[in-house]
Amino acid sequence: MGSAKSSSGKTAGICEHGLHWLKAASPEPGERVCALEYLNRYVAPRRVDRLDRRGTELYLVFDSGEKLECCCETCGESHGDDPGFTDDIKDVALGRRALRFRLEDKSGHLVVWFARGDHLHLHRNALVRFHPPRRSRTRPTRSVRPAHTPPATE
Ligand SMILES: [Zn+2]
Ligand SMILES: [Zn+2]
Repeated sequence: MGSAKSSSGKTAGICEHGLHWLKAASPEPGERVCALEYLNRYVAPRRVDRLDRRGTELYLVFDSGEKLECCCETCGESHGDDPGFTDDIKDVALGRRALRFRLEDKSGHLVVWFARGDHLHLHRNALVRFHPPRRSRTRPTRSVRPAHTPPATE
């Protein structure tokens, strides 16, 4: 912990989707998840609680606390300063449950699926930049086998 982030991740640490493993989020000991797997396992089917803007960056904030940057499919950046961009995202996502996160086969971009088949196209940067919030990290599960002390035989 506290070590400088590794800049070398060329072959090691890349999943089948071409994403880095999330370091902070190991829900089960020894298990690695990428951003896409994390979203599907631990965020879906959470509701988009609000949109958060930081400068030009625009995020979906789920009621579980995770934030996903709304990276424009065309250029890979988010446009929080563009009311049209923001309204389009609000329209499809706000207050709704994200049921599934998928990668498009051809483009490798991210598609967020909501109920009734509505979906939101985002650039894969949304996944590349995704970091789970530390506070939501679940405590490692414990596997307990209660000890039984056999009665002393004499
Ligand atoms: Zn992956
Ligand atoms: Zn753009």
